[in-house]
Amino acid sequence: EEKKEDPKDQEFKLEKDTELRFEVETGGTITLELAEGLAEVFGTELVKNKKFTFGSGAKVAVFTWHGCKVVLHGKTEFAYVSKDTPMIMYVNTHAALEQMRQQAQDQGKRGPRVMIVGPTDVGKSTLCRLLLNYAVRLGRRPTFIDLDVGQGSIAIPGTIGGILVERPADVEEGFSLQAPLIYHFGHASPGANMELYERIIAKCADVFNQRCELNRQASVSGCIINTCGWVKGEGYRSILHAAREFEVDVIIVLDQERLYNDLKRDLPGFVKVVLQPKSGGVVERPQPVRRSAREDRVREYFYGVRQPLYPHSFDVKFADVSLYQVGAPALPDSCLPLDTQQENPYTKLVHIQPGAQIVHHVLSLSMADSLEDNLIDTNIAGFICVTNVDMERQVMTVLSPAPRPLPKRYLLLTDIRFMDFRSPS
Ligand code: ADP
Repeated sequence: EEKKEDPKDQEFKLEKDTELRFEVETGGTITLELAEGLAEVFGTELVKNKKFTFGSGAKVAVFTWHGCKVVLHGKTEFAYVSKDTPMIMYVNTHAALEQMRQQAQDQGKRGPRVMIVGPTDVGKSTLCRLLLNYAVRLGRRPTFIDLDVGQGSIAIPGTIGGILVERPADVEEGFSLQAPLIYHFGHASPGANMELYERIIAKCADVFNQRCELNRQASVSGCIINTCGWVKGEGYRSILHAAREFEVDVIIVLDQERLYNDLKRDLPGFVKVVLQPKSGGVVERPQPVRRSAREDRVREYFYGVRQPLYPHSFDVKFADVSLYQVGAPALPDSCLPLDTQQENPYTKLVHIQPGAQIVHHVLSLSMADSLEDNLIDTNIAGFICVTNVDMERQVMTVLSPAPRPLPKRYLLLTDIRFMDFRSPS
């Protein structure tokens, strides 16, 4: 019998203002322990002598402002210490935002609304997390808005959403996702339906504004908005649109001077646009890696990250649900009777009959109680995945985080697919 080699602990001594960067080997896990000093992971302080576990492919930086000693256990793809980080710049940005919050508080105004833009893989999500963590560590309650439908960190890919951040992100699992605001988009790229994308962004901004009216602390703390890495053509226009809808005060452009210049040219003067470098530690993720990250995100939704979740599998009668898709191809005008106005085809709700075509698709479960609530503008309660469709019995089998029955009847089809190899069916 072959003995598995037990990887040795790797110990790293970090000087102040340096970071340890590592990536977990595919299929492996790494535990990280802070042995001495102070250190943080993307703005969350590490507890000394506590073991933190990271799963396959995770890319992590442990930064120290004061110097520290850390120990890694497990196999790394790479692990090295870098002295060259943009952290001082990022913390200065945080300090400037904090000043704006203080001013807002003193003057009875609202705090900074910040949007982070740039191409893919420049560390946008990571900078969001850092700025949110620093704010919440000072007692603020910033809102995190994620418009990146490709990763969908607040729910799953194919959605946008927001959460009020009340405590620093968990080192292993990220921000607590209680009471999130989630809107259905249904695709992993905004280009699949720009009209819908812009409409749900406008809705999300509306609801954020309403929350700020009711919650002074949220209003003063402002928001940090993550965007997707599509910065050309329509993608660029959607950045301008989001900036307008959220009435952003600050835009941080990571790593792209041209985008920075374009935004300075196209946005009104009161929007502060700043260009910042990306961290050399950000790892580029080729398309397949990004796709598998999306699948992981959906799997985590059903099966959990650290604490395993046990999703339920049960049958749902077609008669008990109504399934819709947002967007339908427009009819050529020549097919329409004269003088009829076509309903906007991109935001039209189309009723669909369940069938084999929805197997493995994720469905959004709307909070709507009736069709009088517009399904597009209504918050999403959660997601199910269709694992089987039985036309004879007129039922579909679904994977669901909650036991039967489904709490609501309106479902929206996404083109996000999830193959559940663990399901007993
Ligand atoms: P974007 O949002 O721009 O696509 P991310 O913030 O998701 O980029 O970063 C891409 C990957 O790089 C993530 O897996 C993240 O954990 C990792 N990463 C970010 N900053 C660092 C760093 N300083 N050292 C190591 N890995 C990092």
